Amino acid sequence: MQELNLLDDPFETFKIADELRRKAVGDEVTYVVNRNINFTDICVNRCKFCSFSNRKRYLLSIEEIKKKVEEAVDYGCTEVCIQGGLYPNADIEFYLNILDAVREISKNIHIHAFSPMEVLHAARNSEMHVEDALKEMKAAGLDSMPGTAAEILDDGIRAKICPEKLSSSQWIEIVKTAHNLGIPTTATMMYGHIETWEHRIRHIKIIRQIQEETGGFTEFIPLPFMWRNNSLGKIAKGSSGFEDLLVIAISRIILHPVIKNIQASWVKLGVKLAQAALHVGANDFGGTLIEENISKAAGSTSGEFLSVEELREIIKRAGRIPRQRDTLYRKL
Ligand code: SF4
Repeated sequence: MQELNLLDDPFETFKIADELRRKAVGDEVTYVVNRNINFTDICVNRCKFCSFSNRKRYLLSIEEIKKKVEEAVDYGCTEVCIQGGLYPNADIEFYLNILDAVREISKNIHIHAFSPMEVLHAARNSEMHVEDALKEMKAAGLDSMPGTAAEILDDGIRAKICPEKLSSSQWIEIVKTAHNLGIPTTATMMYGHIETWEHRIRHIKIIRQIQEETGGFTEFIPLPFMWRNNSLGKIAKGSSGFEDLLVIAISRIILHPVIKNIQASWVKLGVKLAQAALHVGANDFGGTLIEENISKAAGSTSGEFLSVEELREIIKRAGRIPRQRDTLYRKL
């Protein structure tokens, strides 16, 4: 298998990936100024890798969501990224109310919201087709969707790490339906637990196939598994930094030229490894975590955050040119 040869000589693989990155997008490294709004941590699922669900058991009110959107607008965010746990019985109205609340505050801010799992949850609870749920969400202002909940697109792995989550084919179907309705999505992969390189490569190839069909992915985001505070972490301790770089490089190579943007998630990789990733195929640094900036502005000293200035400096120090983008990768 050609891709498996890429594992034989990692440094050669890094070189090829860096060259393809240069050809595809040049030396600019993009970032988006956005705010995450996680409207609830209450969730009916119990995914084994999840460290988020049912900890505080909160649900933001519509007023609280509006306030967060207002702050995001004031801060200059171009996007709000809205996701949450699967709130029991949350139906289409529940999700449309959130979209309406954002649109009441801003007609323009890009709404990047609801994973394929959340869309399925809404459709199921309203006994409607996913396509109709997506149409209603789009009409209410949904601009694009996070391609999360993909984890590893292999039902054997999914049965072990997230048995209640949607299947691989459901994820693929929902994402394709969204693309066909004019709702672009990101694509993700959570690796570094019980999967093998074969699973990872198959996953990346599935993403490539979908992109060849629909052209609806804006970027690919490899996400290393974080092993603390979840049950999967008791048997899997995550990937090494070197492996993280190899995942980035192999993603760039397999996805070239159909997906141009490969994200190094500094939140997951840490700043230094994310800087290194920019030399082995990555060209995007993701969001600025304005949420944490606002918390800090509000007096909090906890949480990890980077200001836009810091982010730009980090990119420059990695030898690249920082460039603000919007969610759809238009340069700002
Ligand atoms: S569906 Fe999402 S929030 Fe719920 S347990 Fe799984 S990963 Fe966590």
